[in-house]
Amino acid sequence: MDGYAVRCEDLGGSPPHIMKLVGESLAGHPYEGELAIGECVRIFTGAMLPTGLDCVAIQENCSVDGTEVRLLENVSCGANVRPTGHDILKGEPVVETGKVISAFDVGWLAACGITHVNVVRKTRVALFSTGDELADPGNELGRGQIYDANRYALTQLLNELPVEIVDLGILPDDPERIERAMLQAGDSCDVLLTSGGVSVGDADFVKDVIRKIGQLEIWRLNLKPGKPLAFGRIGDALFFGLPGNPVSTIVTFLLMVKPALLALSGAESHEPPSFTAILEQPIRHKPGREEYQRGRLRRIDEQTLVDVTGDQSSNRLATFSEADCLIKIPKTCGDLTVGSSVCVLPFSGLV
Ligand code: AMP
Ligand code: MG
Repeated sequence: MDGYAVRCEDLGGSPPHIMKLVGESLAGHPYEGELAIGECVRIFTGAMLPTGLDCVAIQENCSVDGTEVRLLENVSCGANVRPTGHDILKGEPVVETGKVISAFDVGWLAACGITHVNVVRKTRVALFSTGDELADPGNELGRGQIYDANRYALTQLLNELPVEIVDLGILPDDPERIERAMLQAGDSCDVLLTSGGVSVGDADFVKDVIRKIGQLEIWRLNLKPGKPLAFGRIGDALFFGLPGNPVSTIVTFLLMVKPALLALSGAESHEPPSFTAILEQPIRHKPGREEYQRGRLRRIDEQTLVDVTGDQSSNRLATFSEADCLIKIPKTCGDLTVGSSVCVLPFSGLV
């Protein structure tokens, strides 16, 4: 801190202590001299403590007259000084294996002068949308067409993760084209991520292609939204076939794909955070399937309340745009009344 660096042993008795000013130590400009008993050095925040001195009397507690400094209060050994090794001791790990390196860790590594660390290679994720009806925004819509929302939402969600995105555009509902694209992507990517074409319609070819060229290990979850999710493998690559409805795509991405991608990146902790909130609106729910609705949190009188963001149909991206959490409704649960406690999974915190 800004003040006067002294050796606490020199002070003795009760204040005021009279010291002799012999020099100054500024940030980046240490005082290099030796000090005799009763001598002190003017010091500023960020400056090195001169050899032999061990504490700083803050300037607010000192009065100065020429080279005479009066310390008006006692200073204890180590006061107002940041000791070497305060943040980390020599030999201690800065970032443990299994942790996603955060902005804070990067700052800390830099503070330790570390320029290189061993990391897991970024997972290469091939991203497709599927459907003859899809067009990329920026183009005129033909009759019966809609804009591709999923690839854009997924790109943004993937941007938050330690992955490399290989955007492979929109695949038509054509099993041969899908097969060719999947085989190619399976050769060069670690994970294949599609949306649409995994349900029971006549033009839903994706899972048949996976069955043919790889293994379909899971198809359909007892989940709402997101029932038709497919999971499998093509060679060494993992395949996630997300449902086409945008809300189902995003929910299954957050619940299934994101933790898997974090695990593939070597992250040891990938459970989404959750806490309890009090429902502000009733929710109708038939026991049988686990359900996730989109919610908005508010904090009132020390209580965390959660509201549902309107009609929860799985095509309505509006439910997400207004939301800041998912509300989890357990499989066995019936209708929920106002005031019920529910588990919520927040989308984001401070960072
Ligand atoms: P599917 O599972 O392919 O039948 O898709 C289910 C619904 O989601 C259909 O109404 C599709 O038009 C719609 N859908 C599929 N993919 C997308 C996408 N990428 N963006 C927006 N809507 C989509
Ligand atoms: Mg489709």
